Amino acid sequence: MSRMTKPLLSATRAASKNGRLVRRSDQAFGIQERGRTPPNSSGSSFRTKAGYRGGLSVINDDLARNSCVGRRVTGSCRYSTAAQSGETEALDREYIKGFQGRQNKSIPPSPIESKEASIEARLELVDPLLLRDQCQCELCVDPSSHQKLFQTSDIPSALRPSKIVARGEKVELLWDNDVFGYSADHKTQISLDKIEDLFRASQSPKQLVTWDRSVFRERRRSWKWSETRGSGEMLYEMLRELDDYGLVFLEAMPQLEAEQSISSTYGVEQIGNVIGPLRDSLYGRTWDVRSVANAKNIAYTHQYLGLHMDLLYMTNPPDFQILHCLQAPIKGGGESVFVDSFRAAETMLQASSNPITHPLCTYPMHYHYHHVDARTELQNNHYYRNSHPVIELDEHQHVINVNWSPPFQAPLQPYSLANDTVSTRRMREWHQAAQEFSQIIERPDMQFEYLLKPGEAVIFNNRRALHARKAFDVSKGPRWLKGAYIDGDSVWSKLRVLREWSNGK
Ligand SMILES: [Zn+2]
Repeated sequence: MSRMTKPLLSATRAASKNGRLVRRSDQAFGIQERGRTPPNSSGSSFRTKAGYRGGLSVINDDLARNSCVGRRVTGSCRYSTAAQSGETEALDREYIKGFQGRQNKSIPPSPIESKEASIEARLELVDPLLLRDQCQCELCVDPSSHQKLFQTSDIPSALRPSKIVARGEKVELLWDNDVFGYSADHKTQISLDKIEDLFRASQSPKQLVTWDRSVFRERRRSWKWSETRGSGEMLYEMLRELDDYGLVFLEAMPQLEAEQSISSTYGVEQIGNVIGPLRDSLYGRTWDVRSVANAKNIAYTHQYLGLHMDLLYMTNPPDFQILHCLQAPIKGGGESVFVDSFRAAETMLQASSNPITHPLCTYPMHYHYHHVDARTELQNNHYYRNSHPVIELDEHQHVINVNWSPPFQAPLQPYSLANDTVSTRRMREWHQAAQEFSQIIERPDMQFEYLLKPGEAVIFNNRRALHARKAFDVSKGPRWLKGAYIDGDSVWSKLRVLREWSNGK
């Protein structure tokens, strides 16, 4: 397996529609679930002698730097004795002094002595604001609605822990200058696990494994949907695989007319019921890929359909796509081809000294769905249009999305309205890079090919796995795939739920 080694190459799932970082910045997964170790970052942010890059730095480098300042006085945890003894002794004064000391940004960070620093040392490095905001007591989070009952912005800047007490697997904090309206005996309990997460900055990017044909062939599994759908454990594993590789294959989908009438849903709808809901679009909640005459979409013909992603002409293209094979011609072609575009992006950007300025990361590619015909009803007329760069990076230069869909590309646009020499140069640079990218994804060693048989389905990440379909011979029998989209929010929600179940929460 190829494990990416540079931060640039380790994609996170962190992307959101607007902020790009928020949606998948579910640190939650990345760290807790796999027990990942923090990256040995070569970045400029908070590093310690032990080479440990405190996750706080990801949240706010200044914060982390400041948080570290309190450590330099003694060089070791001042509270270990009291806290480890589990006694109810307050740890207040030194602790408060420590945080006050952090107000001076000019003091450089001091090292932590060990990666295995005690929980108290970790607690000491977490800003009180962050700790206070974790409070899940019934005054802070409504036990029934789970809604937050205070505003983070209501926490006074001068808030400090007045007392810290270790209680088994938890730490209890009392506060000075708490949120207005809270009494002095308001207690915030935080689990040691949570403190560990906060310390690790919760944000270490997930080390994503990209794949090519041989990697995927080796690790490919097939999930019996009829069994998987009813087992939390198997579903969890399947979704983790989908999240890690962006591609999973299912078999034993409901197939026969009889089965469908019993369940009264198609297989894709069953999947939607479990990890969805399905996302509606101009194609409907589910749609059929069959060859038809005068098709409005190239997918509905029998021709070769090149590597692409769906619905890139939308602001927020669907994250996941399901294709369920209901009918397929025997030896008639129609194989599906998948490519990990993150692997291709990794290959493209490897040599770039400054990926954020790379033409594939900057040049806006326009995609459209242009079906306007005044002779038909308005509801059947569509003109979707949007632009995305081919490769989207987050602020840490991790690939978060790839947008590549030549069949739906609008005519090339100049980089700027000026259409001057700079604009032309940038267009030419993009063009050259696009040629290289295309050559990479067309390499046979990059492509995993599979002929879906009736009863099988595939779920793939539409922002990562490029898909194509080889031409097929209509005379060898009908080909029918049932398709649907699911938003990533839904899939990742289920993944988090299953993770919490699996952790026994
Ligand atoms: Zn509280």
